[in-house]
Amino acid sequence: MKHHLKYILPLVVIFLVACNGNKKAESISQKNELLFPRGDKNTTDNFEGDVWVKSLVDADSINQTAVGNVTFAPGARSKWHIHPAGQILLATDGVGYYQEKGKSKIILRKGDVVKCPPNISHWHGASPDTAFVQVALTGREKGATVWLDAVGDDDYAERAARKKIL
Ligand code: MN
Repeated sequence: MKHHLKYILPLVVIFLVACNGNKKAESISQKNELLFPRGDKNTTDNFEGDVWVKSLVDADSINQTAVGNVTFAPGARSKWHIHPAGQILLATDGVGYYQEKGKSKIILRKGDVVKCPPNISHWHGASPDTAFVQVALTGREKGATVWLDAVGDDDYAERAARKKIL
């Protein structure tokens, strides 16, 4: 019997260590630790609902792309807007929406990537029940973002047709 213990005991130890590791992973995701700082609460009228913006990289003469982390509370969204040099969105947490004018709204989840073409009116934001976090890479070489109308409740509530763009 003792003979078997020396084989079984290491397996039990490995099992317990693995379980403990899983618990640690769970507690980290439950704490919802932030990938980037949430930043300051938006005070412009370019958004509706509670939105936080943290600039990560300012555009300059060498890198003409601004990088920012944007956190949308459930139901929060941008107005319709245009980026003269386009934009790339990297979804890092939660469940969000993205819609281009004349197209169906799509659902964004962690790991999804969206390429917003230059001069195409669009909006992005959180889904009604879940917050959404995105990193936005915005080309500044052709000028600042042009802000348009608020997103109507009908557009916001419209059923999303596709889950992913890529
Ligand atoms: Mn945009």
